[in-house]
Amino acid sequence: MLMSPQNLPAALAAVRERVARAARSSGRSAQSVTLLGVGKAQPAALLAAAADCGVTQFGESYLQEALEKIAALQDRPLTWHFIGRVQSNKTRPVAEHFAWVHAVDRLKIAERLSSQRPSHAPPLNVCLQVNVAGEASKAGVAPAELPALAAAVAGLPRLALRGLMCIPPEETDPVRQRGWFAQVRTLQEQLNAGGCQLDTLSMGMSGDFEAAIQEGATIIRLGTILFGARPA
Ligand SMILES: *Cc1c(COP(=O)(O)O)cnc(C)c1O
Repeated sequence: MLMSPQNLPAALAAVRERVARAARSSGRSAQSVTLLGVGKAQPAALLAAAADCGVTQFGESYLQEALEKIAALQDRPLTWHFIGRVQSNKTRPVAEHFAWVHAVDRLKIAERLSSQRPSHAPPLNVCLQVNVAGEASKAGVAPAELPALAAAVAGLPRLALRGLMCIPPEETDPVRQRGWFAQVRTLQEQLNAGGCQLDTLSMGMSGDFEAAIQEGATIIRLGTILFGARPA
């Protein structure tokens, strides 16, 4: 479906209802789930329409495109999350223009983000991306290497290590979807038992956000279901 600013309010209302239902079904409040509008490849006007409907947090994957949208929408009080792969030669603009980075999976990237975070800004919120299924095609730290990476990132002065992020294999069966998310939640619990203070699970996309909510997601990252298919 091609989405427009005109039909976005209805799409958003339907998604919010599903979020609330999934939260209720697992004894959570809808307010405990933050909806991130993922606007990659979509025009700033569509994001503005979402902001008009109360969406305040946006996720972007491509740096240049993201910087243009941040500039175009700078009059609005929005929070920007970088959810794409962070290349080491592009850490500075990420550290300067975003409040959150979701896909950190190497200490070197975290060190650069910390040293380049402007001193006047609050610490940069960071999630570590976990490659929960060990897929060769996907980024993310292996679960076995997560504790060491978390300990090192938690010690960096200009970062706030907030939690874990994952992009599990695409599954249509909700039980299998929940299985991956449950593994990531368990990893977070293990880190917290070991002294970390992680309060964020960034997990769930258009095809699996309800399962993610049922397993404790605090940030769901929604693109297609809000904004329609991405233009080529
Ligand atoms: C594109 C993207 C999303 C949104 O995906 P949809 O399936 O369109 O909801 C979420 N997270 C990341 C990291 C993405 O790159």
